Amino acid sequence: GQTVGVLAVQGAFVEHERRLAQLGCACIELRKAADLEKPFDRLILPGGESTVQIKLLHELGMCGPLRERIEGGMPVLGTCAGLILLADRAEGAADGGQSGLATMPVTVRRNAYGRQLGSFHANAAFAGEENVPMTFIRAPFVTEVGKEVEVLARVGGDIVAVRYRNQLGVAFHPELDDDDRVLKLFLADGALLHE
Ligand code: GLN
Repeated sequence: GQTVGVLAVQGAFVEHERRLAQLGCACIELRKAADLEKPFDRLILPGGESTVQIKLLHELGMCGPLRERIEGGMPVLGTCAGLILLADRAEGAADGGQSGLATMPVTVRRNAYGRQLGSFHANAAFAGEENVPMTFIRAPFVTEVGKEVEVLARVGGDIVAVRYRNQLGVAFHPELDDDDRVLKLFLADGALLHE
């Protein structure tokens, strides 16, 4: 079996761990730099508050090692704030602040649906799968994609899922819906990330 490392400094990591357990997948929590030396095969960056996550990653000295893993080809799934961590650029960063891992050539707009529309559901096609449920919580969307970035899903015309090489980024929270297709695609060797 494979072991998934789940970034566990802030945000919705427990929800991912619960899902992974249901799918029969082992996981470890990545809370500090030393945890990154433990063996794991895949990486999940959960939703939460990206400014807080980025600040903590810098303070904990986790940015460099995480970036190395990702650039070395480890499959990574970033959900919501996790997508913001992966993005090269974020529009509307509240503090004009630090960038995150910046391993994916995309621009994201934080809180893109406005503060009024904090949370909503949609059903949309995702990488050839029809009618995938998507839960958005103060979500970003992608406003620009660089070369080699594949758009996997759109909602209302806006890009909500992208792939770049070994990196999968989704604006929604696949761990919060009963439908496991997005997570299974991420976990399945060859199905999505290494064709
Ligand atoms: N609004 C959050 C941010 O900008 C993301 C929300 C989420 O991860 N559900 O970081």
